[in-house]
Amino acid sequence: MSGIVHLVGAGPGDPGLLTVRAVELIAQADVILHDRLIPHEALAHAREGAELVYVGKEGAGAQVPQEATHAFLLEHARAGRRVVRLKGGDPFVFGRGGEEAQLLRAAGIPFEVVPGITAGVAAPAYAGIPVTQRELASGVAFVTGHEDPSKPESQLDWPALAAFPGTLVFYMGVRALPRIAEQLIQGGRAADEPVAVVERGTLPGQRTLLATLADVAERAAAEKIKAPAITLVGPVAALREEIAWLERRPLHGRTIAVTRARAQASALAARLRELGAAVVEAPAIRIEPLPAAKPDLARYDLVAITSPNGAERFMDLLRDARELAGITVAAIGPGTARALRERGIEPDVVPQRAVAEGLVEALEDVPVTRALIARASEGRDVLPNALRERGAEVDELALYETVAEPLEEATRAAAAAADYVTFTSASSVRFYVQAGGSLDGPRLASIGPATSAALREHGAEPDLEADPHTPDGLVDALLRDAG
Ligand code: SAH
Repeated sequence: MSGIVHLVGAGPGDPGLLTVRAVELIAQADVILHDRLIPHEALAHAREGAELVYVGKEGAGAQVPQEATHAFLLEHARAGRRVVRLKGGDPFVFGRGGEEAQLLRAAGIPFEVVPGITAGVAAPAYAGIPVTQRELASGVAFVTGHEDPSKPESQLDWPALAAFPGTLVFYMGVRALPRIAEQLIQGGRAADEPVAVVERGTLPGQRTLLATLADVAERAAAEKIKAPAITLVGPVAALREEIAWLERRPLHGRTIAVTRARAQASALAARLRELGAAVVEAPAIRIEPLPAAKPDLARYDLVAITSPNGAERFMDLLRDARELAGITVAAIGPGTARALRERGIEPDVVPQRAVAEGLVEALEDVPVTRALIARASEGRDVLPNALRERGAEVDELALYETVAEPLEEATRAAAAAADYVTFTSASSVRFYVQAGGSLDGPRLASIGPATSAALREHGAEPDLEADPHTPDGLVDALLRDAG
């Protein structure tokens, strides 16, 4: 039985610009043949055991000839596998997807084509340049800049291109920039026509040069613009001055390392990215659930839950939310309160300050005879001690522990080179240092006093401390510091 080949576009680089269909197919694939210019996060969607084969050609490094790619495609498809041929941008825009489709048709192998967002539209969009605009450009041409326009065998009709009434978008044209500009001016385009060169469009570190046909080659050389880059010629390029949006985001140009456990890091990382930061995920800590028996809740008049993880684990232990009827439920932090609400429990007490001391204060006027504290195994003793001092009996229920997660050398280096490293718990500080993470260099952002104390124990002074002591508070503190 023959397999099937999916010719899939992976978009221009930002993993958010992968299509839903692309992610679905990557997750189902037995084999993925991929280029260099794909978002590397795309491959994270592959299932365990899928075979990932690099067949790139562009730029420096290993070059896999197209014939070898063809042979791979046929071999895997004939072996009955689901093959994803993953290409940067769109597979049919300078991606040789058409040739691969012809090959598969000739071999009688079924295939599907999944378009992708092409760099020629996406990179300008991220630079604040619409490729068409009423009254400025009523057409757009995608052109390869790969060939040398000065050679007589050039396939491009330069006079016709110069006369094209609309925007010209050149792919693969960085090295040929001087010739492209020269030929277009010779063909009648104005020397002062706006040109934009967008390097690493939609990726962290995207750079845009706004120039004119007359000076673009010289300025691109001076700025050392390198591939991959899109060169766009036309009056729409100047709209960038008005429409540029990427660079206006408040954390643009900042790199921020997030040391939270992977399972919790994504929301914070997503928020920081949305504000324009490049995020280094450096999870030095992992949440490990502990075996716990279901507590006999009838014995307690207070249940205190100290973290979102604790809330989830605790509610998993209960058979029925009604077991909490009549018991005061206290939660530290809005995230914990939210996790309880998601399970149908409205906490009675949520202190203003998201720390144990805040809860102790908030409970001052609440009668407590016997309390259950559901928490991490290595939590602080502030809350149990304060309740015991008041004469209450206190049981602690350890629901999970936080354990060290090793960091790879490359991750450590990226975090050390970041502008900020964020810490959202005392244990994240300890494990980050244990994993070889550096507290020297980047500004240190702490979520609250307990985390700051842990930094000081390691001889480092936090540069900023969130207030309120929540992930949102931390983001606000970063915005203030960066602003
Ligand atoms: N199929 C791809 C194009 C492949 S040709 C697509 O549809 O986008 C490779 C060229 O695409 C590069 O030389 C560069 O000109 C352009 N390119 C690809 N990714 C890019 C990016 N992130 N930023 C700018 N240009 C990019």
